[in-house]
This record gives sequence, structure tokens and C-alpha cells, in this order.
Amino acid sequence: MKLLTARDEREALRLYKRYPEALPLAGGTDLMVGWNTGRLNGKTILDLSRLKDWARIRETPMGVWIGALATHTAIRVHPAVKSRFPLLAESSETIGGRQIQNQGTLGGNIANASPAGDTFPALAVYEAKIHTVSDAGRRVVPFSEIFAGVKQTTLQKGELIEGVELTTPSTEPCRQGFRKVGTRAAQAISKTVFAGLLWLNKDRTVDDIRLALGSVATSVRRLEHIETSLTGQKLDPKAITRALNLLSRDIHPIDDIRSTRDYRMLVSRNLITSFLNAR
Ligand SMILES: Cc1cc2nc3c(=O)[nH]c(=O)nc-3n(C[C@H](O)[C@H](O)[C@H](O)COP(=O)(O)OP(=O)(O)OC[C@H]3O[C@@H](n4cnc5c(N)ncnc54)[C@H](O)[C@@H]3O)c2cc1C
Repeated sequence: MKLLTARDEREALRLYKRYPEALPLAGGTDLMVGWNTGRLNGKTILDLSRLKDWARIRETPMGVWIGALATHTAIRVHPAVKSRFPLLAESSETIGGRQIQNQGTLGGNIANASPAGDTFPALAVYEAKIHTVSDAGRRVVPFSEIFAGVKQTTLQKGELIEGVELTTPSTEPCRQGFRKVGTRAAQAISKTVFAGLLWLNKDRTVDDIRLALGSVATSVRRLEHIETSLTGQKLDPKAITRALNLLSRDIHPIDDIRSTRDYRMLVSRNLITSFLNAR
């Protein structure tokens, strides 16, 4: 294994251009699992962990900027993230255990592109923007366009994730909800993971709604059919039942070692129902 260490962004981009086959290394909690299995033998690793600027989280006029190297711990305790984007703080709190949260980064979570990435439903409903950088320049990719499939992103050759931009919605949602369902309360990969934002009018009609589920398709899914069905409707049992009947159009869970398709469908339905019925 060959290790390249970048001291700053310029050096990282220069090295990545020269060694386009290199695997970027952030916290290593995903990548280094391959060490024991021999998957990293003969590989070139580009260590980004010294890019201190990329670990920063800062409040912006529009919301919050989270550098790609910000750890899940830094995110879950950050006052601006907690107050303005609570679902992201909550989801970071559920990742692995404290050691993984201290080491694992948001950029690594996204680039790893697991269908079960726990930050993804929150990033989906907050409609995050992913900022990328390469030797050729910078790009902003809507979160909805960052995944190409299981463990696949739309990052281009030589491109790194620099950070994540979160914009505060123009009106505050009246309800925000996050739930992760795994085998245990901690150190468990999701069977299903949910995030939702709801805006209700005074007469209880739905002004706007954003719902997302992870671990139920090749990558995180916004529940577009359910959202459309509920928008403009009074949030009553009839409207909720009608909307939930569309669930199978929005998600496509499978049987795997962690769960079954049927269980994931049932739990997803229950998570949405309890979010919509919460007071
Ligand atoms: C015991 C254990 C429990 C876990 N539990 C959970 C869990 O509950 N929920 C969950 O979602 N995840 C979990 N994970 C997975 C992992 O911890 C997270 O995905 C973490 O956020 C990865 O971040 P990292 O910095 O460690 O990434 P790394 O391992 O450094 O990198 C991961 C991937 O991203 C690429 N990469 C890293 N940074 C960049 C960048 N800036 N630009 C482009 N590519 C980049 C790497 O090349 C690699 O392919 C767990 C892992 C372990 C080992």
C-alpha cells in the first residue's frame, strides 16, 4: 500500500491529479475495514485528514456550512446544527458508537454511498448541496443527484467532496422527525431510517411536506408520491391512508442479512404514520 499525505487542499488536488487511482482517506472508518480483508493491498491512499479547513462547521447567513472532514461528533454537538438542522444532529448521534462518531466524517459517509447511510434522510429533506472540488474547478451537486447506486456516487474522476451546504427553509416547519430502526439502539446498521419535515396551515391542510427513507432502496429515497398526495390535503386519517397506499411506488426494499422486505415495508409505514399523527 502506498500512502500519500496532503497538507492542504492544493496539495490534495495536485496529488489526486497525479494519482487518479488513489483512494481518499478521511476518518478511515469505512476504508480501513478493507485493510484486514486485504482489499487495500497494492492500493494508493490519499490521506486528507490534515486538511484542517475541511473539518470546520460554520454558521452562514443562509444556514450552515459543514466541511467534508467534520466528524459526526462535531456535527451532533454543534449549536447551529442542533438548532437549525436538528435531524442531522440526531442522525449523527445514531452512527455507530462514540469512537466511530469521533472518527467518521460526513464527507466519508456520503462518498461511501451505502444505502443505509444514516445522515442521508436528513440531508435529503433539508435539500443539502454537496460542494465538490477537483483540479478542474468546483461544482455544486444537489444531494438528490449525488448517488448513482449502491456504493456509487456521481463524483467525477479527481473530484473530492469539500463540504455540505445547508440552507434554512424560508419558513420554519411545524414538525421535524427522525427515527432509525436497527437491531439494537447503538452500533447497529439501519433496517430503516426516516426523516420528515412538515408545514401545516392553520386549518390543518398540508402546506408543504418532505419525507425521506434510507435502507429501503439502492440509495436514500424522497417519498415523492406520498408528499404529492398529502400536499394541500387536510391531514386526516383518510388522507394519510390514501397517501400510505403509495408507499410501494416510493421505496423498493429487499431481503438481506439485516432484515426482510416485508419488515422494512411495515416499519417504514409505521414510522411515517407516527410522524404524521404526532402532536
Ligand atoms: C463499527 C462501525 C459502525 C458504523 N456504524 C454506522 C452507522 O450506524 N451509520 C452509518 O451511516 N455508518 C456507519 N458506519 C460507517 C462509517 O463510520 C461512516 O460511513 C463514516 O461517516 C465514514 O466516514 P470516514 O471519514 O471514516 O470515511 P473513510 O473511511 O475515510 O472513507 C469512506 C469512503 O469515502 C471516500 N472519501 C472520504 N472522504 C472523501 C472526500 N472528502 N471526498 C471524496 N471521497 C471521500 C473514501 O475514499 C472511501 O471510499 C460504521 C462503521 C463502522 C466500522
